[in-house]
Amino acid sequence: MYLVDSHCHLHDPEFFTPSQQIEFLKEAFESNVCQIICIGTSHADSLVAKTFAEAHENVFWTYGIHPEEATKKEDFKSLFEVTKENSRISREGHGRLRVSVESEGRLADRVGVRLDDEKNPTEFFQTKKELSKSSNLVAVGEIGLDYHYPGYDKSAQFDLLERMIDLAISLDLPCSFHVRDALPDFFTLVSNFPKLKPSVLHSFSDSKQNLEIALEKGFFIGINGLATFANLDCYKSLDPCFLDRIVLETDAPFLTPAPNRGKINRPSNVIHVARWLSDKFGVSSQEIAEKTTKNVLKIFNLPNPKLEQS
Ligand SMILES: [Zn+2]
Repeated sequence: MYLVDSHCHLHDPEFFTPSQQIEFLKEAFESNVCQIICIGTSHADSLVAKTFAEAHENVFWTYGIHPEEATKKEDFKSLFEVTKENSRISREGHGRLRVSVESEGRLADRVGVRLDDEKNPTEFFQTKKELSKSSNLVAVGEIGLDYHYPGYDKSAQFDLLERMIDLAISLDLPCSFHVRDALPDFFTLVSNFPKLKPSVLHSFSDSKQNLEIALEKGFFIGINGLATFANLDCYKSLDPCFLDRIVLETDAPFLTPAPNRGKINRPSNVIHVARWLSDKFGVSSQEIAEKTTKNVLKIFNLPNPKLEQS
């Protein structure tokens, strides 16, 4: 029996010192948390996650630009180059042209890049090539919509999310979604992407009704420490029959689960999320581990560490 932390930020030097990173990795592996996914939140942060994942066995990474970054120029400029390439492919007939000329124009204005400026190879253009080469890149995320704090730019978030989903589809990867106070818009937007692979709604904490819609639409639900201390309505009626749609995560360094509240969160704490679910459903921790690990291996196409050893 082993667990996977499907969403953490252990690579991020803003939260973890290099010695903590090593200590927490070792502690996780010793506690049967055998694989860890480090989630990128910006262009630069994703590349840090990549370096970290490539330096440690059983650590994987994702490429993401968080919705709160949607108005930051540098990432958008980088991303623009990729979507320009994607839309060029679409125009050549390999797919549907999703990016309208009008929205490209708006984006171009915002980032100060001219549409016809083909002689502008960027860092990210090479990054996309690198992305498709990195074998332990497992998803695009975290990406999504976040209306929680006043002053958010809805249209910038929409533009960014659409382009990131396009990127995921072109790389044949699932997404790790961060959606806060924005699920109705999110559901509408993703319905335009029938080719999107089954993906995770990370740190789900929305209403019961939206949980039902998410499950109906085929999303996997990322559950973390929040469930252990926040008494969320959405989990009150959650049934063990949904175990085949749940993945476990820590979102470390945030949201430390009970009983470790007050300490910095780390991947080994995913065990406490599994125990919470085991108590809630009245099924063994073994069964929680087996089912949630099976889900995470399937969604993110992770190698089975047991098979690797034999
Ligand atoms: Zn996160």
